[in-house]
Amino acid sequence: MTAEDYARIGGIVFALSMAVSLLEMLWLTVVSKRESFLHAYGQPLKNAVFIELSSLVLPTLGTLGFALLGAGLAPFTLGEGWHTWLIGLLVFEFWYWVQHWLGHKVRLLWCIHAPHHAPDTLTSLIGLGRSVLELPYLGFFLGFMTALCGVPVEVVFFVSLADGVWGKFLHISPRLVPGKYGPLEYVLQTPTWHRVHHAKNVRYMDSNYTSLTLFWDWLFGTLEPLREDEPVVYGITREVNPRSWLDVQFSEMRALWADLSAAPGLRNKLGYLFMPPGWSHSGEHKTVSHQKRLLAAP
Ligand SMILES: [Zn+2]
Ligand SMILES: [Zn+2]
Repeated sequence: MTAEDYARIGGIVFALSMAVSLLEMLWLTVVSKRESFLHAYGQPLKNAVFIELSSLVLPTLGTLGFALLGAGLAPFTLGEGWHTWLIGLLVFEFWYWVQHWLGHKVRLLWCIHAPHHAPDTLTSLIGLGRSVLELPYLGFFLGFMTALCGVPVEVVFFVSLADGVWGKFLHISPRLVPGKYGPLEYVLQTPTWHRVHHAKNVRYMDSNYTSLTLFWDWLFGTLEPLREDEPVVYGITREVNPRSWLDVQFSEMRALWADLSAAPGLRNKLGYLFMPPGWSHSGEHKTVSHQKRLLAAP
């Protein structure tokens, strides 16, 4: 496939998925009036403008560009055939799990992943609320590392495209498509699983990391089902000012800087950078693992 083919297919799929988001937006904010436009869509749309402006001065390679780099350095290739697509999907999902786990467990990386988790409601445009710093980071893991493992660029491209479209659907408003998804819940990440991922309930935090299948979360023990007796509370544990783009995008970094400045010695400063959010040099940890242990205690 040529670069024009990739661009054309990517453009068509992007336009169709944006059309679905527009329908969701119209239904939620105009027809049913179940969400306020500014509350549900203000942040993602403000951030989309910022992402566009920053891409003018700071071009990102994107997953395809990174995949081309990785393929050039790959020591072998998986070749052609149906097995390549299956292994390609598993490898892509493995690196998806790794980058997403790191994004939750390393505080420095949480600072750039947290804007995606800040909203207290879900809509399919929430992916546009990401920090601009997360885009090359995603491209490195999903494109470069997957292709470096021998997955052909074409397979990386189509799996990544499926991930983008399905990833949008994972965030569809619970007010528009509530409930569960029958047998799909046993195999695929559905909006139900991903709503749990966006919860700030202690029981649900740091779970359901992949975006297409349940395989790696099941294997690594990070799969957390939605419980009938505990509805999801969306968002992150700090107070967020939903009207402030600066607060959503940068407050985690400001809090990290404050902790770094106050921490005595290099060892403690490194702890704040690389240990999970909630780690404290005083030993009074409030990490998710710590809170889960308290929850499980009799
Ligand atoms: Zn996440
Ligand atoms: Zn999400």
